[in-house]
Amino acid sequence: MNGSMTGPTTAAPTARFDVAIVGLGAMGSAAAAHLAARGVSVIGFDAYHPAHGLGSSHGDSRLIRLGYFEDPSYVPLLQRAYANWRALEGRLRDEILTITGVLQIGLPDSKIVSGTLKSSDMYGLASETLDAAALRARHPAFAIDDDEIAVLDPQGGYLRPEAAVMGHVKLAVADGAVLHFGEKVTAIRPQAEDITVETATGRYSVGRVIVATGSWITDLVPDLAGKAMPIKQVVAWYQPADGFLTTPQRMPAFIRDEGEDGSYFGFPAIGVDGVKVGRHAHFMEEIDPHAPNPPVNARDTDLLDAFVRRRLPTAAGLRVRATTCRYTMLPSEDFLIDLLPSDPRIVIASPCSGHGFKFTSVVGEILADLALDGGTRLPIGAFSFEAMNRFIASRGTRAELENPTL
Ligand SMILES: Cc1cc2nc3c(=O)[nH]c(=O)nc-3n(C[C@H](O)[C@H](O)[C@H](O)COP(=O)(O)OP(=O)(O)OC[C@H]3O[C@@H](n4cnc5c(N)ncnc54)[C@H](O)[C@@H]3O)c2cc1C
Repeated sequence: MNGSMTGPTTAAPTARFDVAIVGLGAMGSAAAAHLAARGVSVIGFDAYHPAHGLGSSHGDSRLIRLGYFEDPSYVPLLQRAYANWRALEGRLRDEILTITGVLQIGLPDSKIVSGTLKSSDMYGLASETLDAAALRARHPAFAIDDDEIAVLDPQGGYLRPEAAVMGHVKLAVADGAVLHFGEKVTAIRPQAEDITVETATGRYSVGRVIVATGSWITDLVPDLAGKAMPIKQVVAWYQPADGFLTTPQRMPAFIRDEGEDGSYFGFPAIGVDGVKVGRHAHFMEEIDPHAPNPPVNARDTDLLDAFVRRRLPTAAGLRVRATTCRYTMLPSEDFLIDLLPSDPRIVIASPCSGHGFKFTSVVGEILADLALDGGTRLPIGAFSFEAMNRFIASRGTRAELENPTL
């Protein structure tokens, strides 16, 4: 192993690196792995230690699905993401992505159901539509109204987020990346030739910088203040009343469109804690990224308990765990992956509005492309500063949007 993983350094380093990555969570660790695999000299920094539970990338599971209801334009990126996840698994000789199928449940004209069908039709993706009776017969864990339907994405499943972050870190180091954990970056100072990255304990000279600091992004990219909004997201785990029905073999992962009540997501019992559920964007409560994650309270658990009782009655036995995580929402709920307009040597990776984990494996590739070539052949036109500012000009900032979409 050529690379190294260390804690804070004490002396001002003299080595120069081609690329620095600030933030080694989901996006930054993937960028480090892609850059190191290309033989680039790369240094990465994280304020904490890999796969920690203080940001946006913990909690055992993340959904991945191909028929993307949010917009069909995400599908080509997802196809690349699937290929990259499998390549990562191949190198690690470990399972990161497990296929269980993903059910998208709701009224036929709901955004989630109709959007999934639209994406699947447009890209010729496999999908199967089940009416209420068929869903009850095949997947009895789910309660469904007679007028609702479910669209099964047979390629959907879940990722193991902590294992994915750790896997990318491991490969990056194996390929020569130098990763400093427990070393917070305090400033990025563009100079005429190089860029200086300052931490509490050192100064580093680099050619390019990737900023992937998740919910803390406005510290280093103040232009995003008022646009990238960290919010509280809560998920809870339940011991199933009937364990037979909630195994991954009988219960796919799911997203449920509940109309004005928003959308809920969940996973079968894939670990000892049982079935996991959350509501997308929860109560859309803004949080201070510098304060510890706010504790789970009774309002949080009442919401999820009521959903589980109503929609997953066989899983409504006993809530055994609940935790807080962070979404960081952009006004359009899309991503921002672009060169910084004021200095294109700096690449920005936004935390992806609560649906970015599944893309991590391809975002790492894109960030490496942007840092090395200033562009990418992968389709990211919708994730530019220009697109974000156009949306804000037409609709307003996050804080101004009264009724965020699902
Ligand atoms: C509960 C929950 C459920 C979700 N479900 C899904 C899902 O099912 N499917 C899906 O696709 N997505 C999902 N998401 C979204 C997805 O997890 C996020 O988009 C993704 O994890 C964001 O990764 P990130 O790298 O931007 O942030 P993080 O992983 O939080 O990484 C940011 C890193 O930057 C570091 N850092 C910050 N500031 C500094 C600094 N100054 N110097 C050095 N390091 C710094 C932090 O320590 C941290 O490690 C979910 C998110 C949550 C919270």
